[in-house]
Amino acid sequence: MNKGFLNSFHSVHETQILDAESATNFGIGNYFITHSKSELIKKFADLEIGIKLADPVDTIIEKLKLFVSDYQPKEQYPDDKYCKESILQAIISFNQGGFGIGAILVDEKGEIIFKSHNSQIQRHRSDLHAEMTLLSDFEESPLAKKYMNVFTYKEVLTVYSSTEPCPMCLTRMTVAGVNNKYCSSGPDDGMNERTEGLPPYWKNLTEKYPCQKAKSSMMLQKIAHLMFYSGYLDNRWG
Ligand SMILES: [Zn+2]
Repeated sequence: MNKGFLNSFHSVHETQILDAESATNFGIGNYFITHSKSELIKKFADLEIGIKLADPVDTIIEKLKLFVSDYQPKEQYPDDKYCKESILQAIISFNQGGFGIGAILVDEKGEIIFKSHNSQIQRHRSDLHAEMTLLSDFEESPLAKKYMNVFTYKEVLTVYSSTEPCPMCLTRMTVAGVNNKYCSSGPDDGMNERTEGLPPYWKNLTEKYPCQKAKSSMMLQKIAHLMFYSGYLDNRWG
């Protein structure tokens, strides 16, 4: 994700995207697109978790981190525990100077086996979105031997992303043969709602290894979204 990429989508696809969002986002309109630092900070304050409009950036993130760390997953939202962990990874990345997107890898028993986050800024790499960092570091780790045959996975693992994957990450996850669930929609850059345009081979792969919206609380969806846009807080996108 980078800001220029987002801007190009704003200009070309915004009308279409807002229509799709209003139909799917629980009647809260276009919440899942944020256009400016002031809009972002207002949304942080509107969470009603103690963040104030005048809080400095460090304080906003610290209050958010405390809230998410203490958040108790809700029984009616089975993916809450995984979305919480992916958001905590997003916060780690932000505090390292990176973009606020996290991802975790979960095995067939529901155990979290690997965690990571976007590291494009930290590692000076164009490809290291959260899901790409997660899978690349996992595959290079000693743990991968237990789960992999050459470059495919022995069992179907699931990546939980804090926000909807982009085209690159969705493709990478299908190549790896992992499923994906994401906490908040990416109406101006997410790929899941746009797989119809893929070549047949790749479209089949996305059906074999599906990418789906996670079942998580609206509070976690909102926080994941705000962390996605957290680069606005200190003009990190440049
Ligand atoms: Zn990506």
